[in-house]
This record gives sequence, structure tokens and C-alpha cells, in this order.
Amino acid sequence: MKEIYRGYNDTEVVELGVNIECPHCGREWLADGLTECGETYIINCGDNEWEDGCGKDFKMHFDAN
Ligand SMILES: [Zn+2]
Repeated sequence: MKEIYRGYNDTEVVELGVNIECPHCGREWLADGLTECGETYIINCGDNEWEDGCGKDFKMHFDAN
């Protein structure tokens, strides 16, 4: 069987991640795909079995500066 090898040198960052910090509880995480310049995103600080956020919504404005 043929085999190929890949290492870290072959990886690419496909999508830019944004460091989010919830203004309600201060929880931080990385979100993908929220990088449209001038766009305002509604973000929910997740409160479910995978996330331990406060469950509140807040707005994030993304701009290139
Ligand atoms: Zn929160």
C-alpha cells in the first residue's frame, strides 16, 4: 500500500481564528470565520455540555486596524 508522510511543515491555517473574550463573564475562546471587516457579529457565550460560558449574547465588531 502506498503511504505519504505529512508534518507540521505541510499544514496551513485555512481560516483566521479570533480570540473572543466574553464581556459578561470573561471567558476566552477562539472563534473561526468572524473576520469580515466592518462586520458586527452577535456572539453567544455558550452554556452547554461542551462549553462552560454564561449563555449571554454580546456583539463583537471586527475591523482591520
Ligand atoms: Zn460569558
